Amino acid sequence: MHQVTLLPGDGIGPEVTAAARAIVDACGVAVAWDVQRAGLAAQDAGLPPLGPAVFDSIGRTGLALKGPTGTPFGTPYRIEVAAHRAKPVAEPRVYPSVAIALRKEFDLYINVRPVRSLPGVAARYRDVDLIIFRENSEDLYLGRERMVDADTAEAVKTITRGATERAARFACETMQRQGRKKLAIGHKSNVLKLTDGLFLNSARAIAEQYPQIETRDRVIDALCMELVLAPERYDCLLLANLYGDIVSDLCAGLVGGLGMAPGANIGEKYAIFEAVHGTAPDIAGRDIANPVAMLLSATALLRHVGEFGAAGRIERALFDVLERRDRLTPDLGGSGGTRAMTQAIIDALGAD
Ligand code: ATP
Repeated sequence: MHQVTLLPGDGIGPEVTAAARAIVDACGVAVAWDVQRAGLAAQDAGLPPLGPAVFDSIGRTGLALKGPTGTPFGTPYRIEVAAHRAKPVAEPRVYPSVAIALRKEFDLYINVRPVRSLPGVAARYRDVDLIIFRENSEDLYLGRERMVDADTAEAVKTITRGATERAARFACETMQRQGRKKLAIGHKSNVLKLTDGLFLNSARAIAEQYPQIETRDRVIDALCMELVLAPERYDCLLLANLYGDIVSDLCAGLVGGLGMAPGANIGEKYAIFEAVHGTAPDIAGRDIANPVAMLLSATALLRHVGEFGAAGRIERALFDVLERRDRLTPDLGGSGGTRAMTQAIIDALGAD
């Protein structure tokens, strides 16, 4: 029996996590889900956005499937976290969002985002198969922003050799295991000579230790253009936190949109699986959200715990439904809802 923390989250989160849970349960893997509230849903229930129960749960299970969590725009938003068993430090820490707090507290230092063309999905390209490795712990995401005066704001961008090397090593080890051969390091070191320069040099030094991996570097703006022109030329990308966030959405667009892009946040002891997309408030509660990104995040979780057979069965059922265009959600050109598409995948699992 696998113990997994389930964070339904906000917006479309409860709908797509319910879909993923139902499909995992239907495929016969024994999972004990520990459902915990986080984000605006927790606040609405009078709880902190990220309370001790969430930390206790993930501290115990080591694993979470997470729906997107909302962060209000514009107003300063502070997630305060006290010491807990995964991070027993004296002072409470403050973060700009729930997702960032979880990544930092559980030391989930790398964000892995596979992007691939799926059968039957109308998209700009048919032959995309790449992995984005996004450094997950620093860059502009530490929330170190301030107003210098009433008309001037500034944010601190931090890059360290240690965090970059760790991310690069993870990327290279994963590539080696999967037989992937080409790594592109994205950066803007022509302008950000110190920060992006350090990222590039540190990442390159690690990649050089893997002679079977062909490494090159691309200035981030040129990389974006080339990804749009010819994404099939790319295999794996290593990017600092902010570029990784932006390029992930760009790449999701190459293969059919945000509904198709799964992700995993991985550390030494803990792992949290979540889709690339956010809370999508425009479609929340309407039973039209595409569950594929969350479902593929769940199959990545299953593989992470060694359930390769179950993950493969679910993906075959999903591909079958996509190819037959059976009860697809509107973003995939269908007229089904989230629940109908979920049932179609469960039906296909039964027929496997
Ligand atoms: P957040 O502020 O939480 O990031 P957002 O609306 O700014 O939310 P996303 O949620 O990432 O950003 O999505 C942008 C748009 O893409 C959504 O408004 C929605 O129209 C579409 N979208 C995202 N995820 C899905 C999905 N799973 N199924 C269908 N459409 C989606």
